[in-house]
Amino acid sequence: MESWKNYVSGVWQNSTKNETFEERNPADLNEVVGFFTSSNKEDVEMAIDSANSAFLSWSTLSALERANYLKGVLDLLKKERDSFSKVITLENGKTLKESLVEIDSAINEMEFQIHQGQRLYGTTIQTNKKLTMAMTIKVPLGVVAIITPWNFPLNVACRKMIPALMAGNTVILKPASLTSLTAVKFIELFDKVQIPRGVVNLILGSGSLIGEILTGSFKVNGISFTGSTEVGLSIQKNAARNLIPTQLELGGKNPVIVLKDADLEEASNAIMLGAFACSGQWCTSTSRVIVENEVASELVEILKLKVLKLKIGNGANKETEMGPVCGTKQLEIIKSYIDIGIQEGASLCCGGNQLIDADYKKGCFVAPTLFTNVTEKMKIASEEIFGPVLCVLSVDNFGEALTIANNVKYGLASSIFTNDFSKAMRFIQETKVGLTHVNMPSAYKEPMLPFGGVKMSGAGLPEAGTVGIDFFTKHKAVYIQYGH
Ligand code: NAD
Repeated sequence: MESWKNYVSGVWQNSTKNETFEERNPADLNEVVGFFTSSNKEDVEMAIDSANSAFLSWSTLSALERANYLKGVLDLLKKERDSFSKVITLENGKTLKESLVEIDSAINEMEFQIHQGQRLYGTTIQTNKKLTMAMTIKVPLGVVAIITPWNFPLNVACRKMIPALMAGNTVILKPASLTSLTAVKFIELFDKVQIPRGVVNLILGSGSLIGEILTGSFKVNGISFTGSTEVGLSIQKNAARNLIPTQLELGGKNPVIVLKDADLEEASNAIMLGAFACSGQWCTSTSRVIVENEVASELVEILKLKVLKLKIGNGANKETEMGPVCGTKQLEIIKSYIDIGIQEGASLCCGGNQLIDADYKKGCFVAPTLFTNVTEKMKIASEEIFGPVLCVLSVDNFGEALTIANNVKYGLASSIFTNDFSKAMRFIQETKVGLTHVNMPSAYKEPMLPFGGVKMSGAGLPEAGTVGIDFFTKHKAVYIQYGH
């Protein structure tokens, strides 16, 4: 089988050492998705040089010219929506419907950022010197490294690459090795619109092998990373040696608070979506439900019935509601957290096992899992599991719920279900996260608003929204004397 290649200086090429790695379908580990070139130090350096050589001519194009290339990519993505959904499902495992949601979200974000990138406003200001004016202009950083996770292989790449390119940067995309094919297919679109050579580069391979070279190079001028907090921390340390700015979108332990006056049916629907869509592998997934005692058992009963009804299977089958988790490593992590939860004394309400009957045994399937009697200090209530495991904690009142919600190291997303206006407003003010919701799922987001976490969930300027381009630019101060 031929291997998929890097894209450097506008040419598809094997790594200099000609080594490859393989990717398998998480719904059926017997199925090889493809072989991919495995990059090494020289390949990364070639990509960095390629992006540097292309920078001047790309950054001096007009915003409209840059937009026209990216609109071409957008049009192709819209045309190839169905084939992209099959690729994402094949390598990530999410259902076809979920893959389409990801693609549509990527399309919306691209559209928004292409327009936003044509409005890079600066400022003008009077100066202390006569016949002199001053202004600020926004200029690109230069070469930007974009490192993406496997859970949203298309959407995260779009959310970072489009504003980076619109601002005039050149980019090197390093996707997660588990979802390399989506990245290859995405970069093919840039190739098809004949984006100038070197403006967009792709390097495939293991992050632990090539990540440090990419993020430790002084020829890289910005790093936008989405992934685990652990890797984010190591990238920030590495980048700091060259004072390279970083944008880090990291893990979460997102709570949904349910107060006794809430509509439990509505709350349970939002919790089910937040906890089990994409097999719980969203950074904004709901992983903790913090519910007032008076309604705790009623809510758990509703949730349990819904969890037991979920149809688990290969995401490529139309009737599947929850696919496998993404790969054997993730499967083992999730199983080990389930064991920890049991040892810690939480009650296993349903699920808690790997599915191994019939066709399930070929893939990485975990039963959707509901733990009750979870307490704040348990590992399952404080560490990111990143799988279909939901913990229910019951509390005496709103104040206790808010304290527990905030008392974790993460701060990405949260939600509250209540009709009490005053408590909802207090929650909005006091919840320590980057995005919050009232009577909505914790994972809901739109392209017009910024996206980013606080505490160990993120650092640097946020992505998306009207501010999404800011990370990829620098302010330059300009003084102009036009007389004496
Ligand atoms: P990961 O941190 O293992 O990998 C992310 C990317 O970093 C991959 O491309 C990987 O190859 C690369 N990488 C690994 N080691 C590296 C190194 N030393 N230097 C540079 N790059 C390196 O994360 P993952 O398992 O792919 O994704 C799951 C994690 O991502 C979860 O923690 C999830 O919460 C987080 N996530 C966060 C957001 C957000 O916006 N906050 C969105 C999606 C996923």
